[in-house]
Amino acid sequence: MDSVCPHCENIVSSAKVELVDSVETFGTRWKSALFSCPHCNKVLNVSFDITSHAKHIIEQVTKNITNQ
Ligand SMILES: [Zn+2]
Repeated sequence: MDSVCPHCENIVSSAKVELVDSVETFGTRWKSALFSCPHCNKVLNVSFDITSHAKHIIEQVTKNITNQ
């Protein structure tokens, strides 16, 4: 069964992905992956980008180790 875009109803066999900033109300920022339809460019989904988050954790741990 083919997946269709809920906006333009074209078959979506791939999605465009870009990293965007997500901001919580108290100011914490992180990267999220924004998936959009290749036909109409409307947003299909936004999800937490685990790769960017893991990189941030490694940077913070490395910074704490080197500052001791
Ligand atoms: Zn579409």
